Amino acid sequence: MSYTVNHWINGAPRVSNTGRSGNIFDPATGEKIGKVPYADKNEVNEAVIAASNAWPEWARTPPARRARVIFKFKELLESNINELAKLVTREHGKVLSDAVGSVTRGLEVVEFACGIPNLLKGEFTEEVGTGIDSFSTRQPLGVVAGITPFNFPAMVPMWMFPIAIGCGNTFILKPSEKDPSAANFVAELMKEAGCPDGVFNVIHGDKVAVDSLIQHPSIAAISFVGSTPIAQYIYTEGTAAGKRVQALGGAKNHAVIMPDADLEMVTDSLVGAAYGSAGERCMAVSVAVAVGDKVGDALIDSLKPKIQNIKVGPGTDPDSEMGPLITKEHLQKVHDYVDSGIDAGAKLVVDGRDLSLQGYENGYYFGPSLFDNVTTEMRIYKEEIFGPVLSVVRADDYETAVRMVNEHEFGNGTAIFTRDGDAAREFANNVNIGMVGVNVPIPVPVAYHSFGGWKRSMFGDHHMHGSEGVRFFTKLKTITSRWPTGIRSGIDLSFPMMS
Ligand code: NAD
Repeated sequence: MSYTVNHWINGAPRVSNTGRSGNIFDPATGEKIGKVPYADKNEVNEAVIAASNAWPEWARTPPARRARVIFKFKELLESNINELAKLVTREHGKVLSDAVGSVTRGLEVVEFACGIPNLLKGEFTEEVGTGIDSFSTRQPLGVVAGITPFNFPAMVPMWMFPIAIGCGNTFILKPSEKDPSAANFVAELMKEAGCPDGVFNVIHGDKVAVDSLIQHPSIAAISFVGSTPIAQYIYTEGTAAGKRVQALGGAKNHAVIMPDADLEMVTDSLVGAAYGSAGERCMAVSVAVAVGDKVGDALIDSLKPKIQNIKVGPGTDPDSEMGPLITKEHLQKVHDYVDSGIDAGAKLVVDGRDLSLQGYENGYYFGPSLFDNVTTEMRIYKEEIFGPVLSVVRADDYETAVRMVNEHEFGNGTAIFTRDGDAAREFANNVNIGMVGVNVPIPVPVAYHSFGGWKRSMFGDHHMHGSEGVRFFTKLKTITSRWPTGIRSGIDLSFPMMS
């Protein structure tokens, strides 16, 4: 099987003619399965023109009618969820049940966006002055773009476009070039749902396409999710070009395990949170901070057999619990990190480096790995590995554990495991992190709350989806009005105030 992905511009596939393209691989086998075009400035411009032309009418369309398109899209998504999940598994590699789960989390944002008429309701005050009323309204920005990472090729775009489009913007999606097909699949469903041509567009490509979007004068806002260096770059360049930007970056999520925690529950949670999706989740737990050596020893003893039992295999095999990594280069990178941990003196308790699967020798598999005695100076502690590697760090007390979490450059997610309500409350209130779990290992906010980290895990002011998403994709207008019966004639140069 070999296929070529096209752009999706103005409601139809658009064959690229830049002559630049990349290969798409099946991570389970290492086989080349397709090609993805890399747009140039002209092709990006074509998408922007389509979105610009569609915008005035879409912005004028009553919100309830826009919501009907999103509602229809929701129904189509529900009936096609398995097909979309299969596409995600084919190009990303994650196991099918995980792919279905991630699409479902995206679907929840679509459900949230169905309520857009209610979410766009403004505020009204009668008689702010004699005969004067004031009201505020949220209006769309215009043409907006979403640039998304490889690890959630369906869910992360759905954090953005249902809300952006529901608010009356037109949208250009630039998905990851590593697993681009999910974007076209949702574009076709949007068209079937009645989305007018040009309202939702997909442009494929690399840095050239991204830079063309950032620099394009007709794009009002950019929503980005990906690694921290690129997030910072997009934020800096995008805001310098006068755009509104939200840019979510990488992570190093710590779980703090207190001496009173239920250890069985903790280790079950940690195994899921560290190794689910082969650790390629921005909310994966990659550091377990054991408070006290007794907790550290018990944690390692309990984790080790559970980790060794994880079944690694192709994502399409229903028995597989963990699939391959995204690319051969990433596989090598994770391997290098594990080597560097050993060189730095950490103790490798479970070694996933030499995993080879019969019949899948060329797939990008890396076995689940566990380090003990990791310290805060090591690269494996400081940097995001984005693979199935969990580091156990030992802290003497709660204060030391929290200091580690707070001093780390990333601030996406964290969790505390404890039975002590006081400790949990203290942690949740004071920890310097955007999303916090109490006995919940992956505290991903539901669709009607908002997703986002702190520190170098996010650049910009608005988190994704929920009410923050609506604010990001709209601007506030406040109107003050009076009618002739309330107007006194005569000129008055003093500052207007309530009489
Ligand atoms: P990435 O930063 O390499 O790529 C993200 C997007 O940026 C892609 O569309 C890519 O084409 C584009 N891009 C890559 N290099 C570029 C460059 N030099 N100039 C302009 N654009 C460029 O990220 P990835 O490897 O696809 O995804 C994994 C990363 O995303 C991890 O760091 C992970 O933590 C992060 N992530 C964060 C969140 C979050 O919500 N904070 C969610 C998912 C993933």
